[in-house]
Amino acid sequence: MDSTLPAVAEELLKEIKKAFQETSHVPDDLLLGLKFIFGPSAVPALDLVDQRSVTRVTSPSGRTAYQVLGSAGKLYTCYSSCHFCTCPAFGFTVLQKSESLLCKHILAVYLSQAMGACQELSVSEEQLTSILLAEEEDEG
Ligand SMILES: [Zn+2]
Repeated sequence: MDSTLPAVAEELLKEIKKAFQETSHVPDDLLLGLKFIFGPSAVPALDLVDQRSVTRVTSPSGRTAYQVLGSAGKLYTCYSSCHFCTCPAFGFTVLQKSESLLCKHILAVYLSQAMGACQELSVSEEQLTSILLAEEEDEG
């Protein structure tokens, strides 16, 4: 896990992972903690995990990106390694206003990792590059 999240958030995600491995269930106290730390992103992120909306895309060289299918059917690309998402909410509430630690998509990526709920997709280097480039063009 990278160090872009506050220690308390990383600790919470670790607790969730542990609890989920033992019981396949996230206990209420950890859910409350999630809502407390991540605010309005917590519940939509859990919904995304429930709907298996998170896909880990890996290329033969080991490069990884995550694609998250948003609630409106749009696909966003997230990088958990550098804590970035291509959605408008990330640009606005996280980068500009610093109101949130992250958007629901990145939180869904972290939660999917903790709960082992990522779909896996292997692509070629070219395919991964085009996924990354398509998103960049979309931004501009
Ligand atoms: Zn996002």
